[in-house]
Amino acid sequence: MIPYGRQTISEDDVAAVVEVLRGDWLTQGPAVERFERAVAEHCGVEHAIACANGTAALHLAYLGLGLAPGDLLWTSPNTFVATANAARFCGADMGFVDIERDTLNMSVDALEARLADAERSGRLPDVVVPVHFGGAACDMMRISELSRRYGFTVVEDASHAIGGAYRGTPVGACERSSAAVFSFHPVKIVTTGEGGMVVTNDDAIAERARLLRTHGITRDPMEMEHCAEGPWYYEQLELGFNYRITDIQCALGASQMRRLDEFVARRNELARRYDELLAGLPVAPQRVPDDVLSAYHLYVVRLDLGAIGPRTRTEVFAWMRASEVGVNVHYIPVHLQPYYERLGFGRGDLPEAERYYAGALTLPLYPAMSEDDQDAVVAALREAVGA
Ligand SMILES: *Cc1c(COP(=O)(O)O)cnc(C)c1O
Repeated sequence: MIPYGRQTISEDDVAAVVEVLRGDWLTQGPAVERFERAVAEHCGVEHAIACANGTAALHLAYLGLGLAPGDLLWTSPNTFVATANAARFCGADMGFVDIERDTLNMSVDALEARLADAERSGRLPDVVVPVHFGGAACDMMRISELSRRYGFTVVEDASHAIGGAYRGTPVGACERSSAAVFSFHPVKIVTTGEGGMVVTNDDAIAERARLLRTHGITRDPMEMEHCAEGPWYYEQLELGFNYRITDIQCALGASQMRRLDEFVARRNELARRYDELLAGLPVAPQRVPDDVLSAYHLYVVRLDLGAIGPRTRTEVFAWMRASEVGVNVHYIPVHLQPYYERLGFGRGDLPEAERYYAGALTLPLYPAMSEDDQDAVVAALREAVGA
């Protein structure tokens, strides 16, 4: 089976992990800071806070900017459930903004229209979270203009997008957002097994995210409410979490970061090749705007259901899997999950995301994929759609 995504582990990566295993710290040692520094330098951002996974990173970022019960957070329905769930962890209310037909990112026109409505009805969002779907950055220029006009905070869910760029600036620079979040799950661009990171230029967000990553505990006498009683003394200032990541994982992450540009270049090369090979088939690849360098976490196509009828997406999917091609579907619109339905969302709320989902198919893409494998994927798809 050709998988839809796969990590790329080198002998250097293995050696970096083994070195930690033979050393003094398995966790809370120097590799965490080394990895944080590597990501901060890549992004050109002030602070990087590594943590257990991307979901924890979203939670820490939202808490870092003070998201609380009674607040409202909007995001795209075309994302992994974690983007919304982390807001629910904070007790915030959720809203979803429909996607754009071709980029599959949050539609800024839809956002603008909903903001105007929300202003009239008296409940504007406190936070808006653009998700850089597939690795392609959202229209951050317009989103940040709207954030100034309507007073909301922007957090980027950049789980797919480390190594990508927007208008020549690396994703994660936080030029037009308060914070951005990465995931290092093995299918993502860079991996630590499980892992995540918050990046920000805001000192207060960074400080709060660091505090809450370790139970809300400080060992800094300057932050304490009582006098330090001795060298053992620490204080818990807030109710935090154990969201730490290990040195073992961060050694892998820091080693992987050295090849980030190489990974993204190869993913782009394969994506260009897919674009060419798929021309003429009844499928539309995600459109990436000219001012965006996608990190190409995913290569997603939308089947032209009218042209492939009577075949369905389910049949195309089954045909591909039977041909040993590990296709996938990203994403089931979050608002259609039973948990969100119970909160009042339902079918018809976000028509573009629902229409896209009906024809969505993710084709295999990872740096070590061979051109022969790619040809096999395209040949199977050609048969599956009856072209
Ligand atoms: C992977 C992912 C997450 C969550 O990351 P984990 O590391 O799996 O917790 C959040 N948002 C998006 C868009 C993702 O793809």
